[in-house]
Amino acid sequence: LFITVEGPDGSGKSTQIKLLSEYLQDKGYDIVITREPGGTKISEDIREIILDDKNTGMSPVTEALLYAASRAQHVYEKVIPALKEGKIIICDRFVDSSLVYQGIARGLGIEKIKEINEFAIQGIKPDVTLFLNIDPELASLRRRARQNQDRLEKESIEFHKKVYDGYLRLTKMYPERIKIIDASKSIEKTFNQIKNEIDCLLKK
Ligand code: C5P
Repeated sequence: LFITVEGPDGSGKSTQIKLLSEYLQDKGYDIVITREPGGTKISEDIREIILDDKNTGMSPVTEALLYAASRAQHVYEKVIPALKEGKIIICDRFVDSSLVYQGIARGLGIEKIKEINEFAIQGIKPDVTLFLNIDPELASLRRRARQNQDRLEKESIEFHKKVYDGYLRLTKMYPERIKIIDASKSIEKTFNQIKNEIDCLLKK
């Protein structure tokens, strides 16, 4: 089972992923937690290049290809092997992030980003995607409470609004796969919604 978690920066993905993995581990499932960009040595090295504060001159196309390259290695080295071993993978961001950040917010177009990512993922698709839905202004407040913001988290509120609208567009494009979770509530209330969705899925 391949679960991906999506949402704007500051939507609480890491916290919810931790809770979900503990919940599923207690039920006896074998869990792999991973993230994008990253998840393997090579993919994390690429992540550092993408997020490096000094790389302000990076072209949007370069950025999109680096995300896809990082993803290709991650899928090849970690996701496919874990799925073959029957594990549940919980992945912080996947192709949807690229569709939204590079395709919509950076303006490269969804179709182009889909194309390069189809090449990268070798047919691997998430079974379910949890979208942590939070208003961009509230997410921005949560982000500011953080110590170390990366290059991209410091983007303007307009950029983050585009990201948010992009996510809403995706929920309409893939209504079956993407489950909308209200992430403006408390950690517990947010997690309860996630638990319901995953319990439903595991019963199938
Ligand atoms: O979710 P995480 O904090 O690991 O993401 C790292 C940074 O990369 C964030 O600032 C996020 O907005 C950005 N990002 C991006 N395009 C992607 C994935 C992440 O701009 N496809």
